[in-house]
Amino acid sequence: MGSEKGRSMTEKKIKIMGKKWKVIFMTEKEDKEGVLYKADGICDDSIRTIYLRDYYHRKREPTDCDDSDHIMRRNIRHEILHAYLDECGLKEDSASANAWARNEEMVDWIANLLPRVNKTLKKMKVI
Ligand SMILES: [Zn+2]
Repeated sequence: MGSEKGRSMTEKKIKIMGKKWKVIFMTEKEDKEGVLYKADGICDDSIRTIYLRDYYHRKREPTDCDDSDHIMRRNIRHEILHAYLDECGLKEDSASANAWARNEEMVDWIANLLPRVNKTLKKMKVI
């Protein structure tokens, strides 16, 4: 677990469906505007930015999960999947079907399944 002292937020640039996105990792202390209030991640398609709670560099709380890497990887997959759904236009289209593309359980389900699907697709040499 790292320290928050003397560090600044980490920012990465990625491409989602050919569009430039930013991924910003921040601790609670660094989240001065409260962007991640009561959330571990936010996908803001209006500015193509994903904000993620930085569990690697925050001060450890007694109730924290021991495996920060597991939490971070899960949260990153989840928010990236939101970004893909936003960029491919399913966000708007899903409103006519109870906004299924914004459904948290559905996004979690796909995000958790993605590594397995990827492994299967690689094994089948179809990606
Ligand atoms: Zn979500």
